[in-house]
Amino acid sequence: MRLLTFEHQGQRRIGARSGDTIVDLNQADPTLPTDMRSLLGAGPAALNAARAALEKGAPAFDAGQVDVAAPIANPEKVICIGLNYADHAAESNMPIPSEPIVFSKFASAIIGPGDPINLPPVSQKVDYEAELVAVIGTPGRNISEADALNHVVGYTVGHDVSARDYQLEKPGGQWLLGKAFDTFAPLGPDIVTPDEISDPHNLGIRSFLNGQTVQESRTDQLIFKVDRLVAYLSRVLTLRPGDLIFTGTPSGVGMGRDPQVWLKPGDTVVCEIDELGRLENPVTAG
Ligand code: ZN
Repeated sequence: MRLLTFEHQGQRRIGARSGDTIVDLNQADPTLPTDMRSLLGAGPAALNAARAALEKGAPAFDAGQVDVAAPIANPEKVICIGLNYADHAAESNMPIPSEPIVFSKFASAIIGPGDPINLPPVSQKVDYEAELVAVIGTPGRNISEADALNHVVGYTVGHDVSARDYQLEKPGGQWLLGKAFDTFAPLGPDIVTPDEISDPHNLGIRSFLNGQTVQESRTDQLIFKVDRLVAYLSRVLTLRPGDLIFTGTPSGVGMGRDPQVWLKPGDTVVCEIDELGRLENPVTAG
């Protein structure tokens, strides 16, 4: 399934995409909730009901008729992994990590496809990062690596927008502020369930700045793969339905270029992952 959140006549709804149409899950089956976190929290039975609603096929909207929002707006946790592609660690002049580097964003940073990334006036160094995002379905703590992917309900495209001056030039060595500005977590369009993906660890991932390819890699280059990350994180905290894991970005970011490239008003960034979709956001002055 390709699950998404959309707005229709001022109302936020959840749906499943079928080609060029979007089936409104709650309208097709009123026992289903109208928001993604509730759907994922309701477990496998709700997902099976969603599948049945999708097969029923009605009522459906033309995909062009609705505004697609971020697939989930209110996850409890937005966990991000740093330097998880060897080539990106090299361009950042940082060693390849021996354990995952973990930081976070907040739900207040999440925006959907087409929503503007606002450049904060206090930062002069805002950068782009295309990322594979794993979405937790089944909650768990101390999850084994062998069982980890059973806790992932699907995958989506994420953009880890990063203010490098706030990430790297502030006291304390914390990346948090540079990653947490409002609008710095574009997400979507769909949460794609694993049965629709050939292999999440072998997908082309790329980004385009104003139409030019700036990042191009494959998810087989991930240093710590999703099963390892889920197991590692779940030793510390309980993963809950809707939690997001941004898995890191490949090389080609603006910081690593010569000369360096920073986002400016009027830019457009597209992040794209094979089989998952395309996430496009304009950049505006904040
Ligand atoms: Zn990142």
